[in-house]
Amino acid sequence: MHDRGEHPVKEASQAKVYATEHATKICGTILRLLGAYGTYEEIPLSDYFTSCKTLELGSGASEIHRNNIAREVMREYERRFESGELMAWAQTESQEDLLKLNERSGEILEQA
Ligand SMILES: Cc1cc2nc3c(=O)[nH]c(=O)nc-3n(C[C@H](O)[C@H](O)[C@H](O)COP(=O)(O)OP(=O)(O)OC[C@H]3O[C@@H](n4cnc5c(N)ncnc54)[C@H](O)[C@@H]3O)c2cc1C
Repeated sequence: MHDRGEHPVKEASQAKVYATEHATKICGTILRLLGAYGTYEEIPLSDYFTSCKTLELGSGASEIHRNNIAREVMREYERRFESGELMAWAQTESQEDLLKLNERSGEILEQA
């Protein structure tokens, strides 16, 4: 994406959060599977676990990357709304069917 001249902030943040949090989750699962053996010094699982948690924090903590993702998604929808793309989508046939269904369910609720 970068080579195409794009600025993949959202995708980079998504990849960072996904990879680091899944690595921690996998360590937790292995620890649970091994039980007490997982705590033995011969198996450096606690080191892996600490490393994974550190990776979640380093280069921007997960919360900061989630803020990036939310900001980029908001910008994307703002762009699509301003370009009229979202309004065009709201006027497609399937969308009109959905709106009719919504009106119909409103009427049913009023009658109940
Ligand atoms: C192994 C390692 C190597 C590193 N290497 C480098 C390096 O080479 N160069 C460099 O410049 N830096 C480096 N760092 C620093 C790293 O970038 C910072 O530690 C990281 O960005 C987090 O900042 P912080 O430590 O100030 O934590 P803080 O930002 O103080 O975060 C502490 C806690 O508060 C939460 N938090 C903070 N702000 C918010 C918010 N707005 N909303 C919700 N929660 C929030 C965080 O999620 C976290 O849980 C390294 C860190 C580590 C662990």
